[in-house]
Amino acid sequence: MIIDCHGHYTSEPSALIEYRKQQVASLDAPSRTPSPLRISDDEIRERLEPAQLKFQRERGTDITVFSPRASAMGHHVGDVATSLAWTQICNDMIHRVVTLYPKNFIGACQLPQSPGTPPGNCIPELERCVNELGFVACNLNPDPSGGYWREPPLSDQWWYPLYEKMVELAVPAMVHVTATCNPAFHTTGSHYINADTAAFVQFLTSDLFKDFPTLKFIIPHGGGAVPYHWGRYRGLAQDLKRPPLKELLLNNVYFDTCVYHQAGIDLLTKVIPADNILFASEMVGAVKGIDPETGHYFDDTRRYVDRAPGLSAEDKLKIFEGNALKVYPRLGKQISSQSITARA
Ligand SMILES: [Zn+2]
Repeated sequence: MIIDCHGHYTSEPSALIEYRKQQVASLDAPSRTPSPLRISDDEIRERLEPAQLKFQRERGTDITVFSPRASAMGHHVGDVATSLAWTQICNDMIHRVVTLYPKNFIGACQLPQSPGTPPGNCIPELERCVNELGFVACNLNPDPSGGYWREPPLSDQWWYPLYEKMVELAVPAMVHVTATCNPAFHTTGSHYINADTAAFVQFLTSDLFKDFPTLKFIIPHGGGAVPYHWGRYRGLAQDLKRPPLKELLLNNVYFDTCVYHQAGIDLLTKVIPADNILFASEMVGAVKGIDPETGHYFDDTRRYVDRAPGLSAEDKLKIFEGNALKVYPRLGKQISSQSITARA
């Protein structure tokens, strides 16, 4: 089985995007409340079939951990009520997708974060998604300000109530920012990669995992700049009198394979132990085109993992399946229960 741990609902019906536009417009004109959202199952199917489902079939991957479009989370837009209303709608849409295609998708939720609001406010929505909708993970935005980094680092006790709930529910978080409103950054080109790298260093310089030995994070986009600069981080840990990185972080921090060229995956798989790498593609997402040098889609990451020279068959089994089942403790059971639903 090939589990893709990083997919977003980027083929959402246009009515959802229109609803969000109206919601944002209503912030300045409260009398203009958005019209009720109406989307049929057929509209969901029509958009998903030629996108994520087609690519799953063509690339031979089996199931995707699927969450709302990350760049549209927009935690910095409006206030906490805006974020909660939008988050619930987005998570409900993921649940509809999973219900229509239980063999292809497993839910992961957006959280109703909002600048300056303590993350404990996300607990009721996390509980709803896990306990009622069968989701197995959440996306946690380390920068709800949208590119200005005004919140405490992920290692700060400010985040602890949410972590306590994640541990209790046995759900990991993918560290994932949303679109940036800081024009210095490009959302997917720099803001995402910066955040991945920043989160790793926040973990490196803290004792977070002493406080939460079973808390787990997936750092997406191949871990940002981290694998490439592994020597820098090992050296920093040494200078700061921290334990070696393996001991300090590698029971809690994992990297995905959303790296869009062979040399990048070769480096990732050479530097990071196979036990800490999870297969992912983020299709259809950040980079949609075909690489003229290879003739294949940039985000067809299965090809790169298949061809990575240093990986044994056992390593590939871990990366494609085994590690995801470990890092997402609810995943195995959820896959079994959804395949029963699919057969019924
Ligand atoms: Zn993503």
